[in-house]
Amino acid sequence: MQKSELIGIISLLETPKKILITTHTNPDGDAIGSSLAMFGYLQKKGHTVSVMIPDPDPAFLHWMPFHSSILVFRDQQELCLASIEKAEVIFCLDYNGLGRVSDAEEPLRNARAIKILIDHHRNPAPDFNYMFSIIETSSTCELVYDFIAGCGDTGLIDKDIAACIYAGIITDTGSFSYSCNYEKTYLITADLYRKGIDGERIHRLVYDTYSEGRLRLLGFAISEKLVVLHEFHTAYIYLSKEDLDRFDYQVGDTEDIVNYGLSVAGINLAALFSERDGVIRVSLRSKGNFSVNDIAHKYFNGGGHVNAAGANSYLSLEETVRIFVEMLPDYKEKLTSVY
Ligand code: 5GP
Ligand code: MN
Repeated sequence: MQKSELIGIISLLETPKKILITTHTNPDGDAIGSSLAMFGYLQKKGHTVSVMIPDPDPAFLHWMPFHSSILVFRDQQELCLASIEKAEVIFCLDYNGLGRVSDAEEPLRNARAIKILIDHHRNPAPDFNYMFSIIETSSTCELVYDFIAGCGDTGLIDKDIAACIYAGIITDTGSFSYSCNYEKTYLITADLYRKGIDGERIHRLVYDTYSEGRLRLLGFAISEKLVVLHEFHTAYIYLSKEDLDRFDYQVGDTEDIVNYGLSVAGINLAALFSERDGVIRVSLRSKGNFSVNDIAHKYFNGGGHVNAAGANSYLSLEETVRIFVEMLPDYKEKLTSVY
């Protein structure tokens, strides 16, 4: 964000405002963490703040401070529409265009409020009045920290706000294993510890609260549904609706499964295809300079980052996997020379 833009936002927020915080569909730790950190901060600044997510978030994020303030558009449409209508300022966190908010897209598009984007995805859409869009960062949570710091308010970051920011940083970096080659990420993390967070506890709350079904689904996916194509340095897992039903699938249970493909030596591209009601979720991950954002965009009309991207496919599970496997020869050279 340009300094002049930040000055514009600071002066906009000088008097108490009605603010709505929004994030993307299928919200993850960074989406919820950044939204709730911003909620805590803006409340301290004296604004009237609501948080709206398009659809429910997974249970392993429900421990977060301020979580009870969240409205779910899918389930509480009237309340959400009223918040959109009333809002003078709308923060758009962890997504790069209004096409990422599911059924909330139209009402948000038509909202009269000033829209402020804070995000780390490539190619932001021209849907916002102010844009704080930075790719080279761990997470939107880190950018929320930067934003608060830019407003001169790091003193207002307390233990609860810090816990939200930390949760987003660890979930978007796989606990500091990717998208984290930045000195600044660790300086910010150090400050979060200074604010009193218990990082070990947060890690347990996020990663050690699986249901038995989720753990068994992971085991099944790896032992029965993993295909490794060494020739193309690629591994993929495909899960049908019956597979998910068998393990009593709950929102969030397939999160992180895709990463296991990358843990095989020599594998540079990993994919997970999982069947939901009427849609196949495509999750892509890669190592080094191989961009899954390009593949998600070109073949599945999705997007994301260089090393983590996603999309929805409206073809069958078999057709979706076939498209993926058939494009691999075109990328063989790139997949062989990843650095
Ligand atoms: P995941 O595989 O965890 O669902 O998503 C990985 C990354 O890609 C996330 O940063 C997410 O925001 C982005 N992403 C996931 N699905 C989509 C999609 O349908 N469209 C776009 N543009 N980005 C997506
Ligand atoms: Mn993110």
